[in-house]
Amino acid sequence: MKTKTEAKKTLKKKKEKKIIQLEELSWKKIDSLSREKTIFFLPISPMEEHGPHLPVGTDFLTAKDTAKEAIKILNKKKPDLTYILMPAIPLGYSKVGSDFPGTISADIKTIKNIVYSTVSSLAKHGFKYFLVCTYHMEPGHLKGIYLGMKKASRKYDIKIYEPSGPYFYNKEVEKREPKLGFDTQKELHGGFRETSLMKYQYPYLVDENYKELQSIYIDLYSPRVIGKTFKQLGIKDGYIGSPARADSDYGRWFFQETVNLYVRSAIDLYEGKKLPELPRPIKLLIKTPSF
Ligand SMILES: [Zn+2]
Repeated sequence: MKTKTEAKKTLKKKKEKKIIQLEELSWKKIDSLSREKTIFFLPISPMEEHGPHLPVGTDFLTAKDTAKEAIKILNKKKPDLTYILMPAIPLGYSKVGSDFPGTISADIKTIKNIVYSTVSSLAKHGFKYFLVCTYHMEPGHLKGIYLGMKKASRKYDIKIYEPSGPYFYNKEVEKREPKLGFDTQKELHGGFRETSLMKYQYPYLVDENYKELQSIYIDLYSPRVIGKTFKQLGIKDGYIGSPARADSDYGRWFFQETVNLYVRSAIDLYEGKKLPELPRPIKLLIKTPSF
């Protein structure tokens, strides 16, 4: 016999809408979806070294998990729309981390083509709304994504958006995060922020040696540095920032912050609101042909 709480739990489970994953649907089911009321979430991030203490899937896992969590919230918050989670694409452009084993870097044109072919394969059947979820912020990677999105928007009547680039480069995280007492702007790669995130999401994947790692700082966006790899810059362990400060409470905050960003971006995209753009210097940078 079921207890009252058990019965309640089953009821709650039944009410909770399942996350719809594209790979589990037949073409018939996909064809029956409303073109006007379906949003596709496309997670895409490369395997990339993140220091001696974090898995190479740090960006990939984060993009995938936050997209999934955002859909869970949207299913409740705006149930009149359908949200489809696409299989996460484990690729990106990662020049900066390319001299460490485990980093899998595709060239910018390949990223552009992947984004374009994925989106256009659905857009040619009339689907309209796409949210690209990436957690890898290297300008060359964003360049590939933005070129792919641009090409698809020119050919099809779609609405497509990538929220993390504008969020990151407009320094939204520093404006919103809890006060920590140190300069988090320097936490660029595998440092406090990402180590905290992984300690929250996947504590068993974080090597305990993170506590002994020294703080290492370098400005990744100075002109002297652009286009160089970590090893060329003397970053021999592949991280920038202070991993030893990692804290899973901050990780939880940061995870939820990214989820909320996806939730509001999906709604604003659907409602045709103006969405934040990449700041001008980054736009110009990714336009330069040197990439
Ligand atoms: Zn990362």
